[in-house]
Amino acid sequence: MINRLKQEQPVVYQTLKNCLEHDHLSHALLFAGPKGTPKMETALLVAQSLFCDDAHPFGCGQCAVCQRTERKEYTDLIILDGSSKSIKKEEILDLQEQFSKTALEKSGRKMYIINAAENATTEALNSLLKFLEEPMSADVTAVLIVESTDRLLPTIVSRCQILPFRPVDRAQCAQQARLKGVSSTDAWMISHFVKDPDAVLKVSETESYQKAYAGFDLFLDNITDLSRCMVELSTDVFGAKSDAKETLGYFIDILTSFFEEMACQMQDAPLHLMKKAEKIEARGLDLAQVQIVLLETKDKLNRPYNLTLVSDQMMIRLMEVIG
Ligand SMILES: [Zn+2]
Repeated sequence: MINRLKQEQPVVYQTLKNCLEHDHLSHALLFAGPKGTPKMETALLVAQSLFCDDAHPFGCGQCAVCQRTERKEYTDLIILDGSSKSIKKEEILDLQEQFSKTALEKSGRKMYIINAAENATTEALNSLLKFLEEPMSADVTAVLIVESTDRLLPTIVSRCQILPFRPVDRAQCAQQARLKGVSSTDAWMISHFVKDPDAVLKVSETESYQKAYAGFDLFLDNITDLSRCMVELSTDVFGAKSDAKETLGYFIDILTSFFEEMACQMQDAPLHLMKKAEKIEARGLDLAQVQIVLLETKDKLNRPYNLTLVSDQMMIRLMEVIG
């Protein structure tokens, strides 16, 4: 994790390193940044660094304390999570109650993490503010995690040291996904529309993505005469009942990413895709027109249109544009 942080979020890494080294870490940290950035992982790393006997300045990651912290089993670490349901006032009061007691573990330090803190009720946010305003014992550290500070009370934000996480770089996301076992083609492709390595892995394993990718291959192979693959695409790829909408969505994402990359020289694309791009380029395609058709189709997906009609219209318009 330390290496990933250093690479992906050098500013956050350096700030935390300095604060930990000089023992002046703020007692309330606010991690703000888009989905897919390692905010929770970093919060756990801070926890390890505070609890671990062998921290310099980051937790060793190996000892029993570090491992229990990583598994979220350390007694003096409490995590509230607003990502799946909103955080209630009672939960904050509970937290406050537990933090009024002395630490149970040997380090004597306590920490709480509030993930997706923006997803808390107004009452909960007000209680949290009161909690943050109270003189806190020097041994308590709070980490609030948000995607954007806009939805937090400004009075809460002003009490915290803010650490902004920058959006994940596409190439880095693809690299992380490859380390998780995703093929280089899928990692390159999916990282264009999903910016979180775990989510890239998940998408790559879905049948709808795999079908969409097969459809994309078929599409490119027949690009000189799209009428040849019309039937196959509409029955085998977009014709599946259960996940047709998702498949068509991925198909559009894939084509959009591919054509966008063609406009900027297919950066770090797998060789076989580069070759396909070269072939298409030689035909002098009007990429802007193709993108408009794809965008319009994507927009229709979010509305109650008949799916078969939408995919058929898309193909007919693509045939007109591509010629
Ligand atoms: Zn350790």
